[in-house]
Amino acid sequence: MAVPMSQMFTVASYVMRKRLRGVKRYPLVLMLEPLFRCNLACAGCGKIQFPAEILRKNLSPEACFKAVDECGAPIVSIPGGEPLLHPQIDEIVAGLVARKKYVYLCTNALKLEEALPRFKPSKYLSFSIHMDGPREEHDHAVCREGTFDIAVDAIKATLKAGFRVTTNTTLFDTADPERIRGFFDEMMRLGVEGMMISPGYSYEKAPDQEHFLRREKTVRLFRSLLEKPRQWVFNQSPLFLEFLQGKYQLECTPWGNPTYNVFGWQKPCYLVGEGYCETFQELLDTTQWSNYGCASGNPKCQDCMVHSGYEPSAVTSTFASAAGMWRTVRVMLFGPTRGKPLPQIAQTRVSGGSSVPAPLVRKSADGSLELVVNK
Ligand code: SF4
Repeated sequence: MAVPMSQMFTVASYVMRKRLRGVKRYPLVLMLEPLFRCNLACAGCGKIQFPAEILRKNLSPEACFKAVDECGAPIVSIPGGEPLLHPQIDEIVAGLVARKKYVYLCTNALKLEEALPRFKPSKYLSFSIHMDGPREEHDHAVCREGTFDIAVDAIKATLKAGFRVTTNTTLFDTADPERIRGFFDEMMRLGVEGMMISPGYSYEKAPDQEHFLRREKTVRLFRSLLEKPRQWVFNQSPLFLEFLQGKYQLECTPWGNPTYNVFGWQKPCYLVGEGYCETFQELLDTTQWSNYGCASGNPKCQDCMVHSGYEPSAVTSTFASAAGMWRTVRVMLFGPTRGKPLPQIAQTRVSGGSSVPAPLVRKSADGSLELVVNK
């Protein structure tokens, strides 16, 4: 089963209402982080490096509801940390479901089976299981052996109990496309509703800084993964998947997936922390949005193609024009579009006999940055 029609309709009508009212900036998915604590210590994660007194903090259910009500996004994603370590996570989820929010509870699944009796199946609730590839790659990414098998058992148990289940996968430059394609097959065989994929973002605080994807590598990897899709269902906008393959241009929408956590509303986005606001309106009003996104030239944004910045852009693009809608329908009906061939990566000689790839992002006449593979 793909995303329920009711969820698609809710999002579509929400976007249309905002556009008809001329609202320029509106959120689509609230990233609600009720804690930073985790029972894993993944090398690529920038969320668990806070001091112990911060890691001990939990957002109260009331604080979560206040943030959700103020922001108004139709979808709430609950990452962390590991949300199942929050002592009142069942109360928080029940309150969001009662508000008819579509909730994605992101979990590494280590505690999922034992936590299931605390939740009720609902079309509004989906468990989004962290799966970073096949067994070997996943266990390596989360720095603990055996986690892949625990997660697979938890997926089976959660589906059997009648819940919606999706997976979320972050890919790094060590990803082997053929093994990842086999992994997608395996997840679909398990019966998950859909998969979410994204390139990793180089968090300043993440212990492993070596293996994050740069833009050109991202495009090459995702094109080799997705150009000949099999029976896969992605819980994502078709235009975002086209963007990851360098076939569709998008600019970041950092306010589209705002983040609320134990510090408040994070400026400017889920990935970069440059201060906090007390209210969502203050975040909208006081953030200098033109300083972010690839075209801004901000070095923190140059390699970012992450779902939290670009998925809202893809959704908005779908509804913004007949061309965007047509492209979306075309991809849904006939699969990925054919994209222009990727150029060979020119090698630039450097002293000492080694070589490095030439950059594929260049500055255009108006000073904005563009991805050469789209030209
Ligand atoms: S491009 Fe990425 S890092 Fe920059 S504002 Fe957007 S989501 Fe954040």
